[in-house]
Amino acid sequence: MRIFSRISHKLIITFLLISVIPITIAGFYSINLATQSFEAITLENTQFDLFSSAEKIYDFINYNESDVIFLSKSPAIRDYFFAKATHSTSEIERWRKLLQEHFLIFCESREIYEKIAFIDANGNEIICIEGDGLSFFNKPYDELTNVASQQYFLETMKLENDQSYITVSSTSPTSKTTLVTYATPVFDTLGNNRGIIMTTMSAEFFLNPVKYSFDLNDTPKKRSSLFLISNTNVYLAHRVGEDIKTGEIVEIATFVLSGDKNIISGESGTLTDQKNWIITYTPVFIDPNNKDEFLVLVEVIPRDVVFSNVESFTNIFILLIVVAIFVSIIAAIMVTQTITRPLRELVRGTRKLAKKDLSYQINIPSDDELGFLARSFNEMGKELQGSYTILEDKVKERTRRLQLANERLNALVQELREANLQTKEASRLKSQFVSNISHELRTPLNAIIGFSDVLLDEENLTDEQQDYLQTILKNSENLLQLINDMLDLSKIEANKMEVVYQKVKLDELIRRVYKLMTPIAKDRNITMVIESDIIPEIKVDKTKLRQILINLLTNAIKFNKEGGLVKTTVSYYDDNKDYLKIEVSDTGIGINKKDFEVIFDEFRQIDGTDTRDFEGTGLGLAITKKYVEMLGGKIWVESKMNEWSKFVFTLPISQKEETNNEKDTHS
Ligand code: ADP
Repeated sequence: MRIFSRISHKLIITFLLISVIPITIAGFYSINLATQSFEAITLENTQFDLFSSAEKIYDFINYNESDVIFLSKSPAIRDYFFAKATHSTSEIERWRKLLQEHFLIFCESREIYEKIAFIDANGNEIICIEGDGLSFFNKPYDELTNVASQQYFLETMKLENDQSYITVSSTSPTSKTTLVTYATPVFDTLGNNRGIIMTTMSAEFFLNPVKYSFDLNDTPKKRSSLFLISNTNVYLAHRVGEDIKTGEIVEIATFVLSGDKNIISGESGTLTDQKNWIITYTPVFIDPNNKDEFLVLVEVIPRDVVFSNVESFTNIFILLIVVAIFVSIIAAIMVTQTITRPLRELVRGTRKLAKKDLSYQINIPSDDELGFLARSFNEMGKELQGSYTILEDKVKERTRRLQLANERLNALVQELREANLQTKEASRLKSQFVSNISHELRTPLNAIIGFSDVLLDEENLTDEQQDYLQTILKNSENLLQLINDMLDLSKIEANKMEVVYQKVKLDELIRRVYKLMTPIAKDRNITMVIESDIIPEIKVDKTKLRQILINLLTNAIKFNKEGGLVKTTVSYYDDNKDYLKIEVSDTGIGINKKDFEVIFDEFRQIDGTDTRDFEGTGLGLAITKKYVEMLGGKIWVESKMNEWSKFVFTLPISQKEETNNEKDTHS
């Protein structure tokens, strides 16, 4: 299916170039930027959360410390010291037991201490309560030991009032967990250092304040793991997040407890280069005055938990970009369709117009330029249709008129044909009549000429008689000539004149004709010359050529002046030497230019007093012209009035048996 024409392809590609590509580039650039910022913010939040957790742990440690200090200032201890100073041994023991009872109640109320001991200034345990967190009991009197050599004792004894010593270095013999020891010195009312109060608790409790927030339902933190270690890389406590496999925990724990330099540096920070986790760490300073010993809270969060929001944000963003691209593609197609639909309609219209379907109306109802174009196009179609109708009507009218004219012409042709037939018939009758009459006239004329000749030989004729006879003879000869000429002409016109070709030596023929003419020329003292460089032998109808020459030479002598010159010149007419040119010139009266054509017509003699002195029939040149044309040549005249005339005719040298038509081609 052809949805788009080529122009729509171009438009769509253009739209896509200016919309989809920028959207894609800008979109993905924004995603990248936003993701990076979002990740950074998320990590900051994670870090901040860890700070809060560390604060809670710190508060918890402080609270425990105040607990111990509070215990060291208990009135029961004061009473015990008082009794020890003033009372008997049994009385002291009673007060000790009372103090022991007080400690036991304290332990049971707190439930976090594993051990609470009162140690005198010599390092002897006076009271020692031990427990497992749930039940507590007094250490039997005989099991009480001296701890004077213990570091916590020595360190605590150095402290002032309200100061405490906290350490994490020992391990519980019962639970095997790391123990935290709190110790504070005990002073009597006189300000004498009378020993120390020492408590131990499992370090696991340190995570109690934060565990709650990690175990809340619907929080991603449920999957996080927490580690509490000391900066000397002693393990204190941990909390394992949900959904973490054992292998992974071991891996995480190994990494955390390996004491990575970053983690135990005392700074806060985040490690993001671990494969599936984000590790956040922050120090928890137990003793503000002691920066050498502190705890490190480490949170290990699965990467996907941290960046779950980022990931969903990225997904939404990508979805938005895809939607934007999709929308711009749809928009591009729709815009293109909107533009090209009218164009296609226009193209359809032009095709219809090209196929002469002028009634087709382009349907583009819009008011824009294309709509205007379509309306103009429709109007043009209508006008064309109108013009065509008028044109067709005109063509029909012209055709009708032409038919009429044609019919008239046919009728005319028919008339002409009939007239022609009649003319031919008349001509035939005329020729026959001329031929009959000539024949009829020639017999008596020959008799007249013959008898006149005989009579002229009579010796006893008077001069007057001789004159009459001479006149009879001359007029008879002229009449015979006229009859002969008319006979020839009618033969030519009736196509009865045949052409017989034979080889002729031209110079010889001319010389013979000259011989014939010499007596007449001599009569008028006219010189006759032949001028010819070539002596060609041509194939020609000898009789007709002879007649042509006689006619021309007769005129040249006849219309010459007394003592004039007649000259015959033979040369080649063309470069190919296919034709001869024969010129007969004289120094006579000349011919007016306007008469150059008419003198070749039958019975045409030039009017004028000069010519009318000459005898003639007016047929000589007409016959001459016809003969020349029969022989395949042409004839014309050149002249200067009162000075000279020149009759020129051409002849093909090698005559073939040509038809008259072929000869006409040359003429
Ligand atoms: P005609 O028998 O009168 O000589 P032609 O047909 O031979 O008839 O000549 C026609 C006319 O052409 C002549 O009457 C004459 O006026 C003119 N003509 C022919 N030849 C010459 C010539 N050589 N010089 C001058 N006029 C000529």
